[in-house]
This record gives sequence, structure tokens and C-alpha cells, in this order.
Amino acid sequence: MKDRQYTTKELFRRFQPYFKPYWKTLVLDLFCAGLTTLCELVLPMIMRYITNQGLYHLAELSVQTILGVVAIYLALRIVDCVATYYMAGVGHIMGAKIETDMRRDAYQHLHQLSNTYYNNTKVGQIMGRITNDLFDVTEFAHHCPEEFFIAGVKLVIAFIILMRINVLLTLIIFLIVPIMVAVCMHLNFKMRDVFRRQRNQIGELNARIEDSLLGQKVVKAFTNEQMETNKFETDNRQFFDIKRDSYHLMAVFNATTHAFDGAMYVSVLLFGSIFMIKGWVAAGDLVAFLLYVTTLIATIRRIIEFAEQFQRGMTGIERFLQIMDADIEIFDEADAVEMGEPKGEIAFHNVSFEYPDDHNQVFKNLNLTIHPGEKVALVGPSGGGKTTLCNLIPRFYDVTGGEITIDGKSIKHFTLKSLRHNIGIVQQDVYLFSGTIYDNIVYGRPDATREEVMEAAKRAGAHEFITELKDGYDTYVGERGVKLSGGQKQRISIARVFLKNPPIIILDEATSALDNESEYEVAKSLGRLSEGRTTLTIAHRLSSIRNSDRILVLTHDGIVEEGNHEELLEKHGIYDQFYRMANELK
Ligand code: ADP
Ligand code: MG
Repeated sequence: MKDRQYTTKELFRRFQPYFKPYWKTLVLDLFCAGLTTLCELVLPMIMRYITNQGLYHLAELSVQTILGVVAIYLALRIVDCVATYYMAGVGHIMGAKIETDMRRDAYQHLHQLSNTYYNNTKVGQIMGRITNDLFDVTEFAHHCPEEFFIAGVKLVIAFIILMRINVLLTLIIFLIVPIMVAVCMHLNFKMRDVFRRQRNQIGELNARIEDSLLGQKVVKAFTNEQMETNKFETDNRQFFDIKRDSYHLMAVFNATTHAFDGAMYVSVLLFGSIFMIKGWVAAGDLVAFLLYVTTLIATIRRIIEFAEQFQRGMTGIERFLQIMDADIEIFDEADAVEMGEPKGEIAFHNVSFEYPDDHNQVFKNLNLTIHPGEKVALVGPSGGGKTTLCNLIPRFYDVTGGEITIDGKSIKHFTLKSLRHNIGIVQQDVYLFSGTIYDNIVYGRPDATREEVMEAAKRAGAHEFITELKDGYDTYVGERGVKLSGGQKQRISIARVFLKNPPIIILDEATSALDNESEYEVAKSLGRLSEGRTTLTIAHRLSSIRNSDRILVLTHDGIVEEGNHEELLEKHGIYDQFYRMANELK
């Protein structure tokens, strides 16, 4: 997927609402910034006064006057300390709060995105976006308004003061400023591009690491460690190349600003001295001029240093918005209602479906009705669309034609939450979260009591093996349940569904990955689970579906055979063929 790029204006427009809850802090922060700026601007004025008095009116200058002036300056410095404390502390914390808010929003949005998004996006990239990429937002959120405000105030006030001292000299100095700004802006935009590439490449690196580490066992089995390292090194090198580009650009940037600094100082020295010789400016004026130019240069320097942070922040915000602007493809219709507890009749009416961005039609005008409490099995060749059909019922994908109804009402009519609440799914790959066995079962209904969790485990046939473990229900399952066998994991996932207690059950090859003994155990649990519920079972082991009320044979041409086990055998069709093949294998 090509990521959208945003203009600076757009980035600001979208970022600005995040300041809203903290506007008071922001205003106070800017006020403090104003105070520190004033303190800084006062010193050259004092120096000018003292120099001119010393040179031209020494007789009028008393120690008392000096003490008075210094006392004022000291008071200002104290104010400056307090203001600086506020800016550095509270200002940064405001930035961190904004960063935290954005991270929460991005995370929340991620959970609403459809399977299609995840099929096309690398998890490593997403992780980077909501962690590292947002780091720079704290600095950005705090410094961006502050630095621009300080620079603006300083430039304007310094300009006014300098103009009052000497117009010609001021104009000479300020002639350099616009050129400097233009050049720096140009370099700045180049920098944004480099930071974009840098962020993207970090994402690629993350994705590569994740892929390779999750596939550790396969890497080892094929002894492809060196190949993995080489692939990684290619990405790692590319990352270096981008970093090199960014340092190169920063070097150009710094050198350029030094050149402009030099030009300003040289101008003041040259023209200022000539003006002084000519008697157009006083010595104290020249001192003040030099000091103001120093302040100006320091300000511009800060802005320039900030430019890097600014661009990093902008890149972070851009990558954040790319998540926030990813379409939530599957959502509640405006008039969606709660489903309540359905009887469990599921019907497909002329359903057509193709995967988004694939356009390979999986179903065309499929019709099917499953009655409440009926046990229906789906069999058929791999890739025939069994899993896809199951995914349409809880709206993991939306049909592209026709409609699916539950108890006669379109599933789009119900809220997603209530629809999914009524459907229990057991799949071949079980996903266990890191945590304890208890945590994983209670996930099915987070408000369940410990007794209910144990009851669910008993019905799923999991209680026995769980209590045999050293820590029982409090045993840590390890990442993705690596410490448990396939059959054990599957029974935990079934307990989860027992706890949820939905009226509709979908079993997608739930026993396919298991050995015979576990299959037997799990099949018993599944039998108990499907009692009294509408059940749709997909299985390639025909033994487990023999007793279904109805068996459907699904191929690329749709449902081609239908009936119970005996009826289908008599037809001598695909099912019969499957059945005989399965028996030959035994
Ligand atoms: P089955 O479960 O019967 O083996 P599937 O429902 O998984 O079959 O797949 C049906 C067809 O849809 C296959 O051609 C498969 O390649 C395709 N398919 C499955 N998942 C996706 C996906 N996420 N994106 C695009 N095509 C898919
Ligand atoms: Mg499948």
C-alpha cells in the first residue's frame, strides 16, 4: 500500500485539535516564553546605556545608578529562572500528554481496522508508528509553538530597537535574514523527505526482525540463519544509507547557517566601525548592535536546530495520520440495533464475494439456509471457500453481493459487537495471549467468576490437564502458548467459547492439526459445545462430521452436493469420492 503524503498545512490542521485540552498550559507556556525573551533583550540595552554613559557622560554615572540598574536586571533574571522552569517542565509534560493521547487514538483505531488492512500491512511497520514515530511529538508539541513565538517576538522587538539606534545599519543586517530563511526552508523540506525514508526503513527493519524471529523454528530447521542475516543486512545497510544522507544534509545545513552568521557579524563589524568613525553611531550603540546581532543569531540557530526536530515531529504526525486515515471498512450501520439472543437461523441469499484488492470471485449467488440448532458441515477441496464462507457470518469481511441474515434480519442491521457476541469461533490455529491459562479462558467473558471459568474448562475437557500442571490455572502459557500441546491449547480455546456461551458456533478445522488422541478429546469437547447451538463445522476428517444433520460440499462452483452422510454416499459424487479416499489412507 502506498502511504499518503500530507502537506505541512494539513499536518498542522490535523494536529492542532490535540492542543485543545491543554490550551491553558499552552498559553502560560507562551507567556513564560515571552518573559524569558524580554529578559534576554534587556541586557544589550543596559550595556549600551553603561557604555555610552561611561564614554560620554562619566560624571553623571554613580555607583548607586549602577546598583539600581543591576538590581532590576537581577530581578528579571529571577523571573527568567521561574519561567524557564515552567517551560522546560510543564511544557514538556504537556507535549508528553499529547503524545500519549495520540498513541491511544492510534491504538483504538487500529482495533477497528478490518482484516483487509492487516492482510496488507506489516505489523512491524505499525508497531514503529505507534511507538518510536510518536516519540518526537513530545518535543514537537512543546517546542513548536514556543520556539516560533520566541523567534517572532525577538525578531520584531530587536528590529524595532535596532531601527531606533541606526536605520541603515539595521537594514543592512536584516537584508541577510530573508535570504537565510529561504535557503533554510529549502533545506528543511529536503530533510522531511529523508526523515520519511528513515522512519519507513525502521518499520521495514522491525517487520523483518519480527518475521524472522517468529519463524525461528523454520529458520533453524532449514539452517537458513546466514541467509536471514544477509537479508537483514541488506535492510540494515539501506538504513545506514538513509542515515548517511540525513547527516550529510544536516552538515550542509549547519555549514550554511554558519556562513550566514559570518556574513552578519562581518557586516556589523565593517559597516558599524565605518559608521562609528564617521560619527554616525556612538560606541555604546555599536556594542548594543553586536549584542543584538548575537542574540538574533542565537535565536535563528535555535530555530534551525529545532528544524530537525520539527521535521521529525512532522514525520511522526504524518505516519500517525496514515493510521488514523486508514478506512474502517467494516462498521456499524447508522441504524444498527442490538441483536439480543437469536434463535440462530443463518441464511445466505444470493451471496457473492470477492476479496478486496484481489477480485478473484470466491462465491457467486450462493444460497444456503441453516436452521436454528442445526448441525451443518462443510466439506470440499482446499481453497474452495469454506473458511471464507465462515468469515462472512461474523462480518470479518462484508459480502460484495446479496445478503446474509440471522433470524431473517440482515447481519448489517445489527451492531458488530452484538453480532459477534452471538457467534463462537474455534479455528485450527489457536491464538493464546501471553499470560496465564486463567487469563486466556476468562477472555471469553471478562466479567466471569473463577467458578464459571473452571466450569467452562470442565465442559471443554481442559480442567483435568490444567489442574495437573504445577501452577494449575495460574500457569503461564508462554508467548502464544508455546508451553502447551496443540490439543491442550485447543481445549483452552474451546473453554473460552463455552464461557462466552453463544448460540451460534463455527468450527473451522478445529481438530485438523491434532494427533488422533487429542483429536478424540477435542472432538468430545466440541460435541458438548455444539449441543443446542446452531453449528457450522468445517472438517477435512470426515469421521468428525458423519453425524451432522446436513453435509454441504462446497467447491469453486458453489454448493454442489447436499444431504446427510448416507444420502451423499448413495449419490456416488464428490463426497463419496472423498470418503473412499479417506478410507484408503487409513
Ligand atoms: P478453504 O477454507 O475452503 O480452503 P478459503 O476460504 O481459505 O478456502 O479460500 C478460498 C479462496 O479465497 C482461495 O482461492 C484463496 O486463495 C482465496 N483467499 C483466501 N483468503 C484470502 C485473502 N485474505 N485475500 C485474498 N484471497 C484469499
Ligand atoms: Mg480453510
